[in-house]
Amino acid sequence: MEKLFLVHYGEIGLKRNNRSFFEKKLARNIKLSLKGMGCAEVRRIYGRILVMLEPDADVTAIQEQLGKVMGIAHFELALATTQSIDAFQAAALELIKEKEFNTLKVETKRADKRFPLTSPEVSAKVGRYLLNATGTSADMRTPDLRCNIEIVDKAAYIYADKIRGVGGLPVGASGKVLVMLSGGIDSPVAAWRMMKRGVKALFVHFYSYPYTDRASLEKVEEIAEILAIWNYRTQVYLIPFAEVQREIVTQTPAPFRVILYRRMMVRIAQQVAAAAKAACLVTGESLGQVASQTLGNLRVIEEVAEMPILRPLIGDDKAEIMELAEEIGTYEISILPHDDCCSLFVPDHPATNASLEAVEEAEAALDIDTLVKLAVESVEKKIVGIG
Ligand code: ATP
Ligand code: MG
Repeated sequence: MEKLFLVHYGEIGLKRNNRSFFEKKLARNIKLSLKGMGCAEVRRIYGRILVMLEPDADVTAIQEQLGKVMGIAHFELALATTQSIDAFQAAALELIKEKEFNTLKVETKRADKRFPLTSPEVSAKVGRYLLNATGTSADMRTPDLRCNIEIVDKAAYIYADKIRGVGGLPVGASGKVLVMLSGGIDSPVAAWRMMKRGVKALFVHFYSYPYTDRASLEKVEEIAEILAIWNYRTQVYLIPFAEVQREIVTQTPAPFRVILYRRMMVRIAQQVAAAAKAACLVTGESLGQVASQTLGNLRVIEEVAEMPILRPLIGDDKAEIMELAEEIGTYEISILPHDDCCSLFVPDHPATNASLEAVEEAEAALDIDTLVKLAVESVEKKIVGIG
């Protein structure tokens, strides 16, 4: 009887045509996530992934790590056996003998139809054996403990506890996006939500040094490192924004500044995205949270975009976003002080509903193409994460 983890995926099983592509991504990500923990092999079998363990594997660490791999619906520590009732019974008893329960149910799935007994027949035989051996009783509806038998691919896997995975799709399976990362609370959470839907996130950060200190740069790199737990190896593009801001501040009216900063960020970011083959931009904007995030202003900002801007937090409350930030571990870094480049030289009462015409008129004073070109040329690229 060999101990291993049995991994089940959710939605990716539904995508018939791409199934093997998704499975390969998931298997590769699992392997990356478990590096150095004693995972001997990650093997794909029909509809499931097996994580084989070295004799000295760190089972607790592996379990914790599997809980973070995007695309896993649930997983369990299982015993692998040969296909015989005796073997199922011995393995099942081994698994449940230490557990406390009064009622029990055995559930069998027989994917390998060559096994001569049906699923209910297997459940009944193993169930009877376990009830006798433990002196407990059967409960088909709300048992304290469920013991599962999966007969698959010339072997069988027996497990008692299902562990919930994070769900979603395997990172990389949905393509690449460029996340605009500010150093604040929201954008890392936006990145995480997109990763959960299977995208690999690249990051771009605009900083105003020497108008501000360099704190935001360190924060952003640290945040990208934390997100690499799910996202693996990626790029962080750091872009000096002081020159653009100087032009905006000296050439345009104060109430439009944040909107003009944002329009410039979008113009620059989408060139970086196109060069890195990222399909979309992602921001941490949430409707109505601040003046630049009204419906009207979002539209005025979006107007310069030539690729979709995804805003996964658009309908979330700040409290919900903060809770998730704590869960994924970026909150502590996000709340460290840094000078936000977008609050530089911004009036107390920025325009909350700027008209596109007025903004375009204000922008006419800027040499946009040259500013964008200069910014794109001065981008600095950092690599974070493993894989
Ligand atoms: P966050 O908590 O992510 O900073 P926020 O609530 O402070 O968001 P804003 O400062 O208005 O909101 O920023 C809105 C979004 O614009 C951010 O979530 C981020 O995606 C993007 N953004 C803002 N500042 C920067 C920056 N300096 N570099 C890159 N992206 C930025
Ligand atoms: Mg911010």
